[in-house]
Amino acid sequence: MKEEGIPDWGRLAELAGAILTCAECERWSSTKPPEPFWVGSDYRRGGVVLLARNPADKGGRPLPPEAQELLDLLRDSGTAEDFRAWADWRRRDVQSRWSDGKPWDQWAGAFGPATRGVASPNELAWLNVLPARTAGDSRPRGYQLRHGRDEHLRPVLLELRPNDIVWRYEHARQAVVHLKQELGGAWRTDLGMKGRRAKEADRDSINVELRGPRTR
Ligand SMILES: [Zn+2]
Repeated sequence: MKEEGIPDWGRLAELAGAILTCAECERWSSTKPPEPFWVGSDYRRGGVVLLARNPADKGGRPLPPEAQELLDLLRDSGTAEDFRAWADWRRRDVQSRWSDGKPWDQWAGAFGPATRGVASPNELAWLNVLPARTAGDSRPRGYQLRHGRDEHLRPVLLELRPNDIVWRYEHARQAVVHLKQELGGAWRTDLGMKGRRAKEADRDSINVELRGPRTR
């Protein structure tokens, strides 16, 4: 029997694999392949999920060979172990990027401070509305965001069943609100940061909210 709070890693591997073989995401992504979400090994249902709009374009620079290999394995075999290996690599990369050892801006300036002392990276999951990078970080089109939301984000949220979703950017908020309504999700929709730079006051108030007693 599955433990109550543990998501089904086989199902997560399947959903990550679906991103890797998605023809639309492949076509839209400025680097190949499109990049799946990651889930911390200690994530439990009812936990905190981070949601951004789409992965940042770094001038079309691809992932290092090590990460490409993990994604090839995941696409070809689709096992829970291969998904875990990718997720572990990505989680470490968020905190110490392969190219320069620095944390991702999105982590250092927004998600990290918002979740500090509430959940460690191991306990978090990081999703995007659209798993494809867009050239020059251009804003994804409406149909692309709807595709990401309905085809990729929706089933992952159904599996993870978070209580809290901390979002970045208005497009992420809209997706969270839409899916909450459609799926009857338990997650909060008011924990978010707008704008290119997350305001310190926003990060702090999210942190306070996450630490507070659950009132739902
Ligand atoms: Zn897709």
